[in-house]
Amino acid sequence: MIRVVVCGIAGRMGQRLGNLILDSDDLQLVGATERPGHDAQGRDAGDVLGRSSTKVLITEVIPVADADVAIAFTAPASTLADARACAAAGVAMVVGTTGFSADELTEFKATVAAVPCVFAPNFSTAMNVLFKLVEEAARILGDDYDIEVLEAHHRHKVDAPSGTAIRLAQGAAAGLQRNLDDVVVHGRQGVTGERTRKEIGMHAMRLGDVAGDHSVFYGAPGEFLELRHHATSRDAFALGALRAARFVAAAKPGLYDMGDVLAL
Ligand code: NAD
Repeated sequence: MIRVVVCGIAGRMGQRLGNLILDSDDLQLVGATERPGHDAQGRDAGDVLGRSSTKVLITEVIPVADADVAIAFTAPASTLADARACAAAGVAMVVGTTGFSADELTEFKATVAAVPCVFAPNFSTAMNVLFKLVEEAARILGDDYDIEVLEAHHRHKVDAPSGTAIRLAQGAAAGLQRNLDDVVVHGRQGVTGERTRKEIGMHAMRLGDVAGDHSVFYGAPGEFLELRHHATSRDAFALGALRAARFVAAAKPGLYDMGDVLAL
């Protein structure tokens, strides 16, 4: 059995991860955390997952002593703290948290390099196939096609554009040998002038309970192509994260992404 801690177990992803771990044959829930002051503190994880007792109590500090893997879909500051604890204790990590600042990202990557860690902006298998297709389509279509990225997420999401949208745009830019930071345009408003040929537009919608919807458009006179991924539930990400947990449990220390897990 692979012994797993779920960080942020009362969250949207945490709840799906917890339930899928309890339903699996080879993963064992041995710890669960929540933020200080959360009403789940001290309760049995089964309570917040709508299950019978798991005998795992929810704690503020990540319980690394008996864990093989910690899975974190929380917030940048708490994931950084968890990374320090896991690196010190030799516990592997699977991290889906998005919205790191540039400084936080540098520190996070340096910290988790000491243990096996899969860090990915999107754990869905199909999305990782799309990452490859987007770059290839940009390369084939070339500079004649305008590229725009559109994403939609639920109303509670706090960062924009999504980590996945950024990764898609980076892939399209790479296919055209452009640096995304040099060509990205976020939204448009007012008299913007004509679109420049090389810019890549990014747009974020926030509405309802959308689990994640991403499109990359390639447009030229007379046509446009849309490559789209639609997550119908968070299980797309949670199942991928559990696949990554099985991968890191047997991997050497280092930073991996879902492409490594899926051998793409
Ligand atoms: P959420 O707000 O529902 O859940 C986050 C949980 O983390 C909350 O329960 C919160 O209380 C908890 N938390 C915050 N600080 C904590 C701390 N110090 N210790 C322990 N727990 C703490 O959010 P969500 O929709 O589950 O998403 C969480 C993160 O995962 C976001 O950054 C989101 O963008 C990202 N995400 C990534 C993927 C992916 O495939 N990579 C998919 C979905 C969501």
